[in-house]
Amino acid sequence: MTNDIWAKVLAALKGALGANNFSNWIEPLEFSHLSGGVATFQVPTNFIGNYVSQNFGDQIIYHLNKLGEDVQRLQFTVPTQDRPTAEKKLRTVANTPVVNDLSGAPLDRRFTFDTFVVGKPNELAHAAARRVAEGGPVSFNPLFLYGGVGLGKTHLMHAIAHELKQRSPKLNVLYLSAEQFMYRFITALRERKMMDFKQLFRSVDVLMVDDVQFIGGKDSTQEEFFHTFNALVDGQKQIIISADRAPGEIKDLEERIKSRLQCGLVVDLHPTDYELRLGILQSKVDVYAAQYPDLVIAPGVLEFLAHRISTNVRVLEGALTRLFAFASLVGREITLELTQDCLSDVLKASDRKVTVEEIQRKVSEHYNIRLSDMIGPKRVRNYARPRQMAMYLAKHMTSRSLPEIGRRFGGRDHTTVMHGVRRIEELKATDSQIADDLELLRRSLQE
Ligand code: ADP
Ligand code: MG
Repeated sequence: MTNDIWAKVLAALKGALGANNFSNWIEPLEFSHLSGGVATFQVPTNFIGNYVSQNFGDQIIYHLNKLGEDVQRLQFTVPTQDRPTAEKKLRTVANTPVVNDLSGAPLDRRFTFDTFVVGKPNELAHAAARRVAEGGPVSFNPLFLYGGVGLGKTHLMHAIAHELKQRSPKLNVLYLSAEQFMYRFITALRERKMMDFKQLFRSVDVLMVDDVQFIGGKDSTQEEFFHTFNALVDGQKQIIISADRAPGEIKDLEERIKSRLQCGLVVDLHPTDYELRLGILQSKVDVYAAQYPDLVIAPGVLEFLAHRISTNVRVLEGALTRLFAFASLVGREITLELTQDCLSDVLKASDRKVTVEEIQRKVSEHYNIRLSDMIGPKRVRNYARPRQMAMYLAKHMTSRSLPEIGRRFGGRDHTTVMHGVRRIEELKATDSQIADDLELLRRSLQE
């Protein structure tokens, strides 16, 4: 990527985010390099990087993609040396009063329970969040939500905060990321305002700390976090924590903190399944429909996206945003073809490479036969049919040629593979059991 393109992105962001946000968050970024779909920026502090990634990441990626750059992810690094420019840039951000400020990080208005789609992978986390959001006597403390990127942790936390504030407007709900907690702590230390800091954090009714894995390794911050935590628990105040992994697995976190975090309710958000993804897409489309009343989506497009983009919800949403923007720009119906054109990069990136070996393993598990029997020479139907299924899937889900596939099935000839593939093609049309098995296997291989 050239600096020229970045300059264009900057111009677009300035318009979109407003002068204040722009000078506080975007100006401190220094584009470093782009490789493998990851754009790297230097930032004066982790805090800025994290904030930008959470709040403006999607927009930055969107604009980069729009200008033809293949970027899927942003990465922020903090230079090890203290560079004068970074220092100077930091000062613009540090101007905000941090120590006495009870406002926390801004809550996204869209992240409510109403817009959260519940499915099997997240139903437990959702139920726990709902319970906490009802207020009332504190039943589990802390509530610890964990799960991979883009699975809805922040969304659920904001939803809790919105709900609590709506039910009791006087409640002091403080939501912030672990890095913001750290940043405030360090600022308080530097400005000798530790008393204010302690008082502030002990005066909240509900404390929410997002992405707490970032606290690992920061010893003095951990210490303070631990004390704040204990003081609040003792005072029967609700604490809600999120992280990208279970408490026990957070690196460089003190044992006593780990065990403290585990003593409430720990629930995880599982990776999305097809049904949940489809549900989320449908709910987003309903929102867009109001915004773009003329747009038409051909049948099958949402199913296609839910099927093909299985990484995380953020990517799924980004894809949909882009699709709608593109379709409305060119004034065309959103067909499968248009979808494939417009999202080719995203689709390519989330293409899971399935191997013949994986297919063989899945199929033999499915039919409860030994892998060696599937690959071996036996011709009895019990083995032959699963073998043909595996050949069919290998032909359709990998880029291997027929001879290559034959070799992986105990050195069979390519004509044998071809015969097997044809046989399954015939059966698929007449035998619904076979058709169902195929669909099931195909899906589980794509997950
Ligand atoms: P995390 O904090 O786990 O990385 P986020 O809460 O930021 O993930 O979610 C990423 C995006 O996906 C957000 O825009 C969020 O609204 C959306 N999202 C995630 N899960 C759901 C869901 N179950 N229903 C609706 N939107 C969701
Ligand atoms: Mg988050």
